[in-house]
Amino acid sequence: MYAVRTLVTITQKNLRPNLKRWVHDEIRVRFAPSPTGHLHLGGLRTALYNYLYARNKNGKFLLRIEDTDQTRLVPGATESLIEDMQWAGIEIDEGPEVGGAFGPYVQSERVDIYLKAVHELLENGTAYRCFCTERRLELLRKEAMRTRQVPRYDNKCRYLTPQQIAVLLAKNTPYCIRFQLETHDEPLQDLIYGPVKHDVSENEGDPVIIKTDQFPTYHFANVVDDHMMGVTHVFRGVEWQISTTKHLLLYKAFCWQPPRYGHLPLLVNADGTKLSKRQGDIGIRHFRDKGYFPEAVINYVVSAGGGFEHTLGEKHQIYTLNELAEKFSMERVNSHPSRLNPDLLNHFNQLHILKMLESPTDTQYLVRRVQAMVKQAYPKEQNLDLDDHHIENVLMWAAKRLTFLQDLTDSKLSFLWVRPNDFKLKYITHEQMQSLIEHLACAEFTKDKINEKLTEFADKNQLKFPTFMKTLRSALSGLKEGPGVAEMMDILGSEAVLQRLKSCINKQGDQADQKQQRNNEI
Ligand code: GLU
Repeated sequence: MYAVRTLVTITQKNLRPNLKRWVHDEIRVRFAPSPTGHLHLGGLRTALYNYLYARNKNGKFLLRIEDTDQTRLVPGATESLIEDMQWAGIEIDEGPEVGGAFGPYVQSERVDIYLKAVHELLENGTAYRCFCTERRLELLRKEAMRTRQVPRYDNKCRYLTPQQIAVLLAKNTPYCIRFQLETHDEPLQDLIYGPVKHDVSENEGDPVIIKTDQFPTYHFANVVDDHMMGVTHVFRGVEWQISTTKHLLLYKAFCWQPPRYGHLPLLVNADGTKLSKRQGDIGIRHFRDKGYFPEAVINYVVSAGGGFEHTLGEKHQIYTLNELAEKFSMERVNSHPSRLNPDLLNHFNQLHILKMLESPTDTQYLVRRVQAMVKQAYPKEQNLDLDDHHIENVLMWAAKRLTFLQDLTDSKLSFLWVRPNDFKLKYITHEQMQSLIEHLACAEFTKDKINEKLTEFADKNQLKFPTFMKTLRSALSGLKEGPGVAEMMDILGSEAVLQRLKSCINKQGDQADQKQQRNNEI
Protein backbone atom coordinates (compact mmCIF):
# COMPACT_ATOMS: atom_id res chain seq x y z
CA MET A 1 0.00 0.00 0.00
CA TYR A 2 1.39 3.34 -0.94
CA ALA A 3 0.85 6.58 0.84
CA VAL A 4 -2.13 8.66 0.04
CA ARG A 5 -0.86 11.61 -1.92
CA THR A 6 -2.72 14.69 -3.02
CA LEU A 7 -1.33 17.84 -4.57
CA VAL A 8 -2.79 20.76 -2.69
CA THR A 9 -2.24 24.46 -2.84
CA ILE A 10 -1.68 26.11 0.48
CA THR A 11 -1.48 29.74 1.38
CA GLN A 12 0.94 30.81 4.06
CA LYS A 13 0.17 33.97 5.94
CA ASN A 14 2.32 36.96 4.83
CA LEU A 15 4.51 34.66 2.82
CA ARG A 16 4.36 33.47 -0.74
CA PRO A 17 0.87 32.58 -1.79
CA ASN A 18 -0.06 29.36 -3.56
CA LEU A 19 2.63 27.05 -2.24
CA LYS A 20 2.24 23.61 -3.74
CA ARG A 21 2.99 20.52 -1.74
CA TRP A 22 2.17 16.90 -1.71
CA VAL A 23 0.20 16.07 1.36
CA HIS A 24 1.08 12.64 2.67
CA ASP A 25 -0.39 10.74 5.50
CA GLU A 26 3.08 9.61 6.55
CA ILE A 27 6.69 10.64 7.09
CA ARG A 28 8.87 9.99 4.02
CA VAL A 29 12.65 10.12 4.19
CA ARG A 30 15.31 9.08 1.75
CA PHE A 31 18.94 8.07 1.46
CA ALA A 32 20.33 9.50 -1.78
CA PRO A 33 23.86 8.25 -2.41
CA SER A 34 25.83 8.82 -5.57
CA PRO A 35 27.11 5.49 -6.91
CA THR A 36 30.73 6.52 -6.83
CA GLY A 37 32.04 3.72 -4.64
CA HIS A 38 31.20 1.32 -1.86
CA LEU A 39 29.15 2.22 1.18
CA HIS A 40 31.33 3.53 3.99
CA LEU A 41 30.71 4.47 7.60
CA GLY A 42 29.58 8.02 6.77
CA GLY A 43 27.04 6.80 4.21
CA LEU A 44 25.82 4.07 6.52
CA ARG A 45 25.35 6.63 9.29
CA THR A 46 23.15 8.81 7.03
CA ALA A 47 21.16 5.81 5.82
CA LEU A 48 20.72 4.56 9.39
CA TYR A 49 19.47 7.83 10.87
CA ASN A 50 16.95 8.18 8.07
CA TYR A 51 15.88 4.58 8.49
CA LEU A 52 15.57 4.83 12.28
CA TYR A 53 13.54 8.02 11.92
CA ALA A 54 11.21 6.41 9.36
CA ARG A 55 10.67 3.30 11.48
CA ASN A 56 10.21 5.32 14.66
CA LYS A 57 7.51 7.41 12.99
CA ASN A 58 5.92 4.57 11.01
CA GLY A 59 7.05 6.28 7.86
CA LYS A 60 8.71 5.18 4.64
CA PHE A 61 12.40 4.91 3.82
CA LEU A 62 13.36 5.50 0.19
CA LEU A 63 16.59 4.84 -1.64
CA ARG A 64 17.37 7.14 -4.54
CA ILE A 65 20.46 6.80 -6.67
CA GLU A 66 21.92 10.17 -7.61
CA ASP A 67 23.93 9.39 -10.70
CA THR A 68 23.67 12.60 -12.70
CA ASP A 69 27.41 13.15 -12.63
CA GLN A 70 28.12 10.40 -15.11
CA THR A 71 31.87 11.05 -15.02
CA ARG A 72 32.12 9.80 -11.42
CA LEU A 73 30.11 6.61 -11.79
CA VAL A 74 31.67 3.37 -10.63
CA PRO A 75 30.21 0.27 -12.34
CA GLY A 76 28.47 -2.04 -9.88
CA ALA A 77 28.41 0.59 -7.13
CA THR A 78 24.59 0.71 -6.89
CA GLU A 79 24.30 -3.06 -6.47
CA SER A 80 27.07 -3.04 -3.92
CA LEU A 81 25.44 -0.17 -1.95
CA ILE A 82 22.15 -2.06 -1.85
CA GLU A 83 23.86 -5.25 -0.79
CA ASP A 84 25.70 -3.51 2.04
CA MET A 85 22.48 -1.88 3.22
CA GLN A 86 20.76 -5.26 3.19
CA TRP A 87 23.64 -6.73 5.16
CA ALA A 88 23.13 -3.99 7.74
CA GLY A 89 19.44 -4.94 7.95
CA ILE A 90 18.10 -1.71 6.45
CA GLU A 91 14.86 -2.46 4.62
CA ILE A 92 14.18 -0.24 1.64
CA ASP A 93 10.49 0.59 1.22
CA GLU A 94 10.87 2.23 -2.18
CA GLY A 95 13.93 2.22 -4.39
CA PRO A 96 15.63 0.94 -7.53
CA GLU A 97 15.22 -2.80 -6.99
CA VAL A 98 12.02 -2.77 -4.93
CA GLY A 99 10.14 -0.18 -7.01
CA GLY A 100 7.40 2.08 -5.67
CA ALA A 101 4.78 4.52 -6.85
CA PHE A 102 7.13 7.48 -7.33
CA GLY A 103 9.86 5.89 -9.42
CA PRO A 104 12.07 5.57 -11.26
CA TYR A 105 14.41 5.91 -8.29
CA VAL A 106 17.58 6.35 -10.37
CA GLN A 107 18.14 9.92 -11.48
CA SER A 108 19.61 9.11 -14.90
CA GLU A 109 16.23 7.54 -15.72
CA ARG A 110 14.35 10.73 -14.80
CA VAL A 111 15.89 13.21 -17.23
CA ASP A 112 12.50 13.96 -18.87
CA ILE A 113 11.08 14.91 -15.48
CA TYR A 114 13.87 17.46 -14.89
CA LEU A 115 13.52 18.97 -18.36
CA LYS A 116 9.80 19.41 -17.83
CA ALA A 117 10.41 20.97 -14.43
CA VAL A 118 13.06 23.37 -15.65
CA HIS A 119 10.62 24.57 -18.27
CA GLU A 120 8.44 25.86 -15.46
CA LEU A 121 11.32 27.96 -14.14
CA LEU A 122 12.23 29.28 -17.60
CA GLU A 123 8.60 30.30 -17.97
CA ASN A 124 8.36 32.08 -14.65
CA GLY A 125 11.70 33.81 -15.21
CA THR A 126 13.63 32.28 -12.30
CA ALA A 127 15.91 30.32 -14.67
CA TYR A 128 17.63 31.39 -17.85
CA ARG A 129 19.67 30.00 -20.70
CA CYS A 130 23.37 30.70 -20.49
CA PHE A 131 25.33 30.71 -23.74
CA CYS A 132 28.73 31.51 -22.22
CA THR A 133 31.49 29.40 -23.70
CA GLU A 134 33.84 27.24 -21.67
CA ARG A 135 36.59 29.64 -22.75
CA ARG A 136 34.79 32.68 -21.30
CA LEU A 137 34.18 30.84 -18.03
CA GLU A 138 37.84 29.86 -17.90
CA LEU A 139 38.87 33.49 -18.38
CA LEU A 140 36.55 34.52 -15.55
CA ARG A 141 38.16 31.90 -13.31
CA LYS A 142 41.67 33.06 -14.20
CA GLU A 143 40.78 36.70 -13.59
CA ALA A 144 39.36 35.79 -10.18
CA MET A 145 42.57 33.96 -9.30
CA ARG A 146 44.65 36.92 -10.42
CA THR A 147 42.69 39.33 -8.26
CA ARG A 148 42.58 36.78 -5.40
CA GLN A 149 38.81 36.47 -5.44
CA VAL A 150 36.65 33.39 -5.17
CA PRO A 151 35.78 32.40 -8.76
CA ARG A 152 32.10 32.90 -9.53
CA TYR A 153 29.98 33.29 -12.60
CA ASP A 154 29.16 36.97 -13.28
CA ASN A 155 25.52 36.24 -14.22
CA LYS A 156 26.04 37.83 -17.64
CA CYS A 157 23.35 35.85 -19.46
CA ARG A 158 20.69 36.86 -16.93
CA TYR A 159 20.49 40.11 -18.86
CA LEU A 160 20.12 38.80 -22.42
CA THR A 161 17.04 40.20 -24.19
CA PRO A 162 14.46 37.83 -25.71
CA GLN A 163 15.69 38.92 -29.16
CA GLN A 164 19.32 38.08 -28.35
CA ILE A 165 18.23 34.68 -27.01
CA ALA A 166 16.17 34.01 -30.16
CA VAL A 167 19.18 34.78 -32.38
CA LEU A 168 21.49 32.52 -30.39
CA LEU A 169 18.95 29.70 -30.40
CA ALA A 170 18.42 30.09 -34.13
CA LYS A 171 22.18 29.59 -34.58
CA ASN A 172 21.98 26.43 -32.48
CA THR A 173 24.39 27.90 -29.96
CA PRO A 174 24.94 25.40 -27.15
CA TYR A 175 23.60 26.52 -23.77
CA CYS A 176 23.09 25.39 -20.23
CA ILE A 177 20.36 26.57 -17.88
CA ARG A 178 21.15 28.58 -14.78
CA PHE A 179 19.06 29.37 -11.77
CA GLN A 180 18.71 32.99 -10.76
CA LEU A 181 19.80 33.25 -7.14
CA GLU A 182 18.19 35.85 -4.96
CA THR A 183 18.99 37.14 -1.51
CA HIS A 184 17.90 34.73 1.15
CA ASP A 185 17.33 36.35 4.52
CA GLU A 186 15.33 33.72 6.35
CA PRO A 187 17.57 31.41 8.36
CA LEU A 188 17.28 27.70 7.72
CA GLN A 189 15.57 26.04 10.70
CA ASP A 190 17.83 23.01 10.91
CA LEU A 191 16.29 20.19 12.94
CA ILE A 192 19.70 19.37 14.41
CA TYR A 193 21.65 22.63 14.32
CA GLY A 194 18.83 25.09 14.97
CA PRO A 195 18.70 28.33 12.95
CA VAL A 196 21.50 28.62 10.37
CA LYS A 197 22.07 31.67 8.19
CA HIS A 198 23.82 31.50 4.85
CA ASP A 199 23.17 33.87 2.00
CA VAL A 200 24.23 31.91 -1.04
CA SER A 201 23.81 34.79 -3.53
CA GLU A 202 26.49 36.74 -1.69
CA ASN A 203 29.05 34.01 -2.28
CA GLU A 204 28.13 32.33 -5.54
CA GLY A 205 27.18 33.18 -9.09
CA ASP A 206 23.98 31.72 -10.56
CA PRO A 207 24.39 27.94 -10.54
CA VAL A 208 23.93 25.68 -13.54
CA ILE A 209 20.85 23.49 -13.08
CA ILE A 210 20.75 21.81 -16.50
CA LYS A 211 24.06 21.15 -18.20
CA THR A 212 24.74 21.54 -21.93
CA ASP A 213 24.18 17.79 -22.36
CA GLN A 214 20.67 18.21 -20.87
CA PHE A 215 21.60 16.39 -17.69
CA PRO A 216 20.58 18.10 -14.44
CA THR A 217 23.12 19.05 -11.80
CA TYR A 218 22.90 17.60 -8.31
CA HIS A 219 21.09 20.60 -6.77
CA PHE A 220 18.30 20.65 -9.29
CA ALA A 221 17.65 16.93 -9.52
CA ASN A 222 17.79 16.65 -5.74
CA VAL A 223 15.11 19.30 -5.21
CA VAL A 224 12.84 18.10 -8.00
CA ASP A 225 13.05 14.52 -6.75
CA ASP A 226 12.53 15.29 -3.08
CA HIS A 227 9.40 17.16 -4.07
CA MET A 228 8.13 14.63 -6.61
CA MET A 229 8.83 11.74 -4.28
CA GLY A 230 6.97 13.45 -1.46
CA VAL A 231 9.97 13.54 0.87
CA THR A 232 8.92 15.19 4.12
CA HIS A 233 12.27 15.26 5.95
CA VAL A 234 15.83 15.41 4.64
CA PHE A 235 18.58 14.16 6.94
CA ARG A 236 21.99 14.34 5.35
CA GLY A 237 25.59 15.14 6.16
CA VAL A 238 26.47 18.64 7.34
CA GLU A 239 28.65 19.12 4.25
CA TRP A 240 25.36 19.71 2.38
CA GLN A 241 24.12 22.38 4.79
CA ILE A 242 25.67 25.15 2.70
CA SER A 243 23.70 23.95 -0.35
CA THR A 244 20.42 23.94 1.50
CA THR A 245 19.76 27.67 1.06
CA LYS A 246 20.15 27.14 -2.68
CA HIS A 247 17.66 24.29 -2.45
CA LEU A 248 15.22 26.42 -0.48
CA LEU A 249 15.46 29.12 -3.18
CA LEU A 250 14.62 26.51 -5.81
CA TYR A 251 11.57 25.43 -3.81
CA LYS A 252 10.55 29.05 -3.61
CA ALA A 253 10.94 29.48 -7.38
CA PHE A 254 8.67 26.49 -7.95
CA CYS A 255 6.25 27.59 -5.23
CA TRP A 256 6.74 24.23 -3.60
CA GLN A 257 6.64 23.61 0.12
CA PRO A 258 10.15 22.42 1.08
CA PRO A 259 10.77 19.42 3.32
CA ARG A 260 12.23 19.90 6.84
CA TYR A 261 16.02 19.66 6.89
CA GLY A 262 18.32 18.24 9.53
CA HIS A 263 22.06 18.00 8.99
CA LEU A 264 24.11 15.29 10.62
CA PRO A 265 27.43 16.46 12.06
CA LEU A 266 30.73 15.28 10.70
CA LEU A 267 31.65 11.70 11.57
CA VAL A 268 35.26 11.79 12.79
CA ASN A 269 37.97 9.48 14.11
CA ALA A 270 38.42 9.14 17.86
CA ASP A 271 41.13 11.85 17.77
CA GLY A 272 38.83 14.27 15.95
CA THR A 273 40.52 13.89 12.55
CA LYS A 274 38.39 13.55 9.46
CA LEU A 275 37.40 10.10 8.21
CA SER A 276 38.57 9.71 4.67
CA LYS A 277 36.87 7.58 2.05
CA ARG A 278 40.33 6.71 0.93
CA GLN A 279 40.96 5.00 4.25
CA GLY A 280 39.97 1.54 2.96
CA ASP A 281 39.11 0.49 6.48
CA ILE A 282 35.99 2.66 6.68
CA GLY A 283 34.22 0.69 3.96
CA ILE A 284 31.37 -1.52 5.16
CA ARG A 285 32.95 -4.36 3.13
CA HIS A 286 36.01 -4.13 5.30
CA PHE A 287 33.93 -4.66 8.46
CA ARG A 288 32.02 -7.51 6.85
CA ASP A 289 35.22 -9.22 5.75
CA LYS A 290 36.84 -8.82 9.15
CA GLY A 291 33.97 -10.73 10.73
CA TYR A 292 31.98 -8.01 12.44
CA PHE A 293 28.30 -8.66 12.82
CA PRO A 294 25.98 -6.01 11.31
CA GLU A 295 24.51 -5.31 14.76
CA ALA A 296 27.99 -4.41 16.06
CA VAL A 297 28.67 -2.01 13.19
CA ILE A 298 25.25 -0.39 13.53
CA ASN A 299 25.55 0.16 17.28
CA TYR A 300 29.08 1.49 16.72
CA VAL A 301 27.97 4.03 14.12
CA VAL A 302 24.96 5.34 15.99
CA SER A 303 26.82 5.38 19.31
CA ALA A 304 28.97 8.18 17.87
CA GLY A 305 26.17 10.58 17.10
CA GLY A 306 23.59 10.29 19.86
CA GLY A 307 19.86 10.06 19.30
CA PHE A 308 19.14 7.99 22.40
CA GLU A 309 18.43 8.59 26.05
CA HIS A 310 21.57 6.74 27.16
CA THR A 311 24.97 6.66 25.51
CA LEU A 312 25.16 3.38 23.64
CA GLY A 313 27.81 0.95 24.85
CA GLU A 314 27.89 2.27 28.39
CA LYS A 315 25.17 -0.02 29.61
CA HIS A 316 26.90 -3.06 28.08
CA GLN A 317 23.98 -3.71 25.86
CA ILE A 318 23.67 -4.13 22.17
CA TYR A 319 20.43 -3.33 20.42
CA THR A 320 18.77 -4.67 17.31
CA LEU A 321 17.73 -2.23 14.60
CA ASN A 322 14.11 -2.52 15.75
CA GLU A 323 15.06 -1.73 19.34
CA LEU A 324 17.15 1.22 18.17
CA ALA A 325 14.26 2.51 16.04
CA GLU A 326 11.93 2.31 19.02
CA LYS A 327 14.31 4.30 21.24
CA PHE A 328 15.42 6.79 18.60
CA SER A 329 14.69 10.49 18.76
CA MET A 330 16.11 12.98 16.25
CA GLU A 331 16.06 15.74 18.90
CA ARG A 332 18.73 13.80 20.79
CA VAL A 333 21.16 13.70 17.87
CA ASN A 334 24.18 15.85 18.72
CA SER A 335 25.30 18.78 16.62
CA HIS A 336 28.97 18.48 17.58
CA PRO A 337 31.24 16.14 15.56
CA SER A 338 30.44 12.47 16.10
CA ARG A 339 33.56 10.73 17.35
CA LEU A 340 33.87 7.04 16.58
CA ASN A 341 35.29 4.91 19.35
CA PRO A 342 36.93 1.81 17.76
CA ASP A 343 37.11 0.02 21.14
CA LEU A 344 33.34 0.05 21.19
CA LEU A 345 33.18 -1.76 17.87
CA ASN A 346 34.99 -4.82 19.25
CA HIS A 347 33.03 -4.56 22.46
CA PHE A 348 29.76 -4.61 20.52
CA ASN A 349 30.86 -7.59 18.45
CA GLN A 350 31.62 -9.54 21.60
CA LEU A 351 28.33 -8.47 23.17
CA HIS A 352 26.52 -9.65 20.10
CA ILE A 353 28.11 -13.09 20.20
CA LEU A 354 27.19 -13.36 23.89
CA LYS A 355 23.65 -12.28 23.14
CA MET A 356 23.32 -14.83 20.35
CA LEU A 357 24.44 -17.59 22.70
CA GLU A 358 21.38 -16.86 24.84
CA SER A 359 19.11 -18.04 22.06
CA PRO A 360 19.13 -21.70 20.89
CA THR A 361 18.34 -20.72 17.29
CA ASP A 362 21.14 -18.15 17.15
CA THR A 363 23.51 -20.61 18.83
CA GLN A 364 22.77 -23.11 16.08
CA TYR A 365 23.55 -20.43 13.53
CA LEU A 366 26.90 -19.73 15.23
CA VAL A 367 27.69 -23.45 15.35
CA ARG A 368 27.08 -23.73 11.59
CA ARG A 369 29.28 -20.72 10.92
CA VAL A 370 32.09 -22.11 13.04
CA GLN A 371 31.81 -25.47 11.26
CA ALA A 372 32.14 -23.74 7.89
CA MET A 373 35.04 -21.58 9.05
CA VAL A 374 36.98 -24.49 10.52
CA LYS A 375 36.49 -26.58 7.38
CA GLN A 376 37.78 -23.68 5.34
CA ALA A 377 40.75 -23.15 7.65
CA TYR A 378 41.75 -26.86 7.64
CA PRO A 379 40.73 -28.03 4.15
CA LYS A 380 42.95 -31.10 4.13
CA GLU A 381 42.27 -32.28 7.66
CA GLN A 382 40.22 -35.50 7.86
CA ASN A 383 40.02 -35.77 11.60
CA LEU A 384 38.13 -32.63 12.60
CA ASP A 385 36.11 -32.42 15.79
CA LEU A 386 33.06 -30.53 14.56
CA ASP A 387 30.39 -32.06 16.67
CA ASP A 388 27.64 -29.48 17.48
CA HIS A 389 27.91 -30.03 21.18
CA HIS A 390 31.67 -29.60 21.15
CA ILE A 391 31.38 -26.32 19.22
CA GLU A 392 28.73 -25.06 21.64
CA ASN A 393 31.07 -25.82 24.57
CA VAL A 394 33.92 -24.03 22.87
CA LEU A 395 31.70 -21.04 22.13
CA MET A 396 30.59 -20.84 25.75
CA TRP A 397 34.20 -20.84 26.86
CA ALA A 398 35.26 -18.40 24.19
CA ALA A 399 32.39 -15.92 24.27
CA LYS A 400 33.90 -13.60 26.85
CA ARG A 401 37.37 -13.80 25.33
CA LEU A 402 36.46 -13.57 21.69
CA THR A 403 36.01 -10.58 19.38
CA PHE A 404 35.51 -12.49 16.15
CA LEU A 405 34.24 -15.98 15.48
CA GLN A 406 37.19 -16.61 13.20
CA ASP A 407 39.55 -16.06 16.15
CA LEU A 408 38.62 -19.68 16.86
CA THR A 409 40.48 -20.82 13.76
CA ASP A 410 43.75 -19.28 14.92
CA SER A 411 46.56 -21.83 14.60
CA LYS A 412 47.21 -21.60 18.37
CA LEU A 413 43.77 -23.06 18.90
CA SER A 414 44.05 -25.78 16.26
CA PHE A 415 43.80 -28.41 19.01
CA LEU A 416 40.17 -27.42 19.43
CA TRP A 417 39.31 -28.84 16.04
CA VAL A 418 42.05 -31.15 14.89
CA ARG A 419 41.97 -34.47 16.72
CA PRO A 420 45.46 -35.96 17.12
CA ASN A 421 46.06 -38.70 14.62
CA ASP A 422 49.39 -40.10 15.18
CA PHE A 423 50.36 -40.62 18.79
CA LYS A 424 51.96 -43.27 20.91
CA LEU A 425 51.36 -43.57 24.59
CA LYS A 426 54.69 -43.44 26.36
CA TYR A 427 55.42 -43.08 30.08
CA ILE A 428 51.89 -44.04 30.99
CA THR A 429 50.22 -47.41 30.73
CA HIS A 430 46.88 -48.36 29.27
CA GLU A 431 45.54 -49.00 32.80
CA GLN A 432 46.83 -45.67 34.08
CA MET A 433 45.10 -43.88 31.24
CA GLN A 434 41.88 -45.70 32.01
CA SER A 435 42.07 -44.71 35.64
CA LEU A 436 42.95 -41.11 34.69
CA ILE A 437 39.78 -40.99 32.62
CA GLU A 438 37.75 -42.16 35.62
CA HIS A 439 39.57 -39.71 37.86
CA LEU A 440 38.80 -36.79 35.53
CA ALA A 441 35.23 -37.84 34.78
CA CYS A 442 34.12 -36.75 38.20
CA ALA A 443 36.16 -33.53 38.22
CA GLU A 444 34.77 -30.07 38.02
CA PHE A 445 36.07 -28.93 34.65
CA THR A 446 37.79 -25.68 35.46
CA LYS A 447 41.49 -25.01 34.95
CA ASP A 448 42.29 -24.94 38.70
CA LYS A 449 40.29 -28.04 39.58
CA ILE A 450 41.80 -29.95 36.67
CA ASN A 451 45.28 -28.93 37.76
CA GLU A 452 44.55 -30.24 41.24
CA LYS A 453 43.27 -33.53 39.85
CA LEU A 454 46.27 -33.98 37.57
CA THR A 455 48.77 -33.28 40.38
CA GLU A 456 46.93 -35.70 42.63
CA PHE A 457 46.97 -38.36 39.93
CA ALA A 458 50.66 -37.90 39.15
CA ASP A 459 51.54 -38.18 42.88
CA LYS A 460 49.44 -41.28 43.36
CA ASN A 461 50.92 -42.99 40.33
CA GLN A 462 54.44 -41.73 40.92
CA LEU A 463 54.58 -40.06 37.49
CA LYS A 464 57.01 -37.27 36.77
CA PHE A 465 54.74 -34.28 36.32
CA PRO A 466 56.47 -32.62 33.28
CA THR A 467 56.61 -35.89 31.37
CA PHE A 468 53.06 -36.73 32.31
CA MET A 469 51.95 -33.33 30.98
CA LYS A 470 53.89 -33.81 27.77
CA THR A 471 52.14 -37.10 27.21
CA LEU A 472 48.72 -35.66 27.88
CA ARG A 473 49.31 -32.67 25.64
CA SER A 474 50.29 -34.93 22.81
CA ALA A 475 47.35 -37.29 23.47
CA LEU A 476 44.89 -34.41 23.45
CA SER A 477 46.28 -32.29 20.65
CA GLY A 478 49.12 -34.03 18.90
CA LEU A 479 51.07 -30.84 19.58
CA LYS A 480 54.31 -30.23 21.40
CA GLU A 481 53.39 -26.70 22.38
CA GLY A 482 50.30 -24.74 23.24
CA PRO A 483 48.46 -23.59 26.32
CA GLY A 484 49.00 -25.38 29.63
CA VAL A 485 47.38 -28.84 29.73
CA ALA A 486 44.79 -27.90 32.35
CA GLU A 487 43.86 -24.83 30.37
CA MET A 488 43.65 -26.86 27.21
CA MET A 489 41.33 -29.30 28.94
CA ASP A 490 39.24 -26.46 30.26
CA ILE A 491 38.85 -25.04 26.75
CA LEU A 492 38.11 -28.38 25.16
CA GLY A 493 35.54 -29.23 27.79
CA SER A 494 35.15 -32.53 29.62
CA GLU A 495 33.31 -34.33 26.87
CA ALA A 496 35.95 -33.75 24.20
CA VAL A 497 38.81 -34.43 26.66
CA LEU A 498 37.42 -37.75 27.81
CA GLN A 499 36.57 -38.76 24.29
CA ARG A 500 40.08 -37.97 23.04
CA LEU A 501 41.71 -39.80 25.93
CA LYS A 502 39.45 -42.80 25.38
CA SER A 503 40.16 -42.87 21.68
CA CYS A 504 43.80 -42.83 22.62
CA ILE A 505 43.34 -46.06 24.56
CA ASN A 506 41.25 -47.53 21.77
CA LYS A 507 43.94 -46.75 19.24
CA GLN A 508 46.52 -48.27 21.57
CA GLY A 509 44.19 -51.22 21.81
CA ASP A 510 43.78 -51.36 18.04
CA GLN A 511 47.52 -51.16 17.59
CA ALA A 512 48.05 -53.92 20.15
CA ASP A 513 45.35 -56.04 18.50
CA GLN A 514 46.90 -55.51 15.12
CA LYS A 515 50.35 -56.45 16.50
CA GLN A 516 48.87 -59.57 18.08
CA GLN A 517 47.13 -60.43 14.81
CA ARG A 518 50.38 -59.96 12.85
CA ASN A 519 52.23 -62.18 15.32
CA ASN A 520 49.52 -64.86 14.96
CA GLU A 521 49.77 -64.68 11.19
CA ILE A 522 53.55 -65.20 11.34
N1 GLU B 1 23.95 12.56 -3.66
C1 GLU B 1 24.29 13.24 -2.47
C2 GLU B 1 25.40 12.42 -1.81
O1 GLU B 1 26.06 11.73 -2.48
C3 GLU B 1 23.07 13.34 -1.60
C4 GLU B 1 22.98 14.53 -0.72
C5 GLU B 1 21.60 14.62 -0.12
O2 GLU B 1 21.24 13.74 0.65
O3 GLU B 1 20.87 15.51 -0.49
O4 GLU B 1 25.64 12.43 -0.65
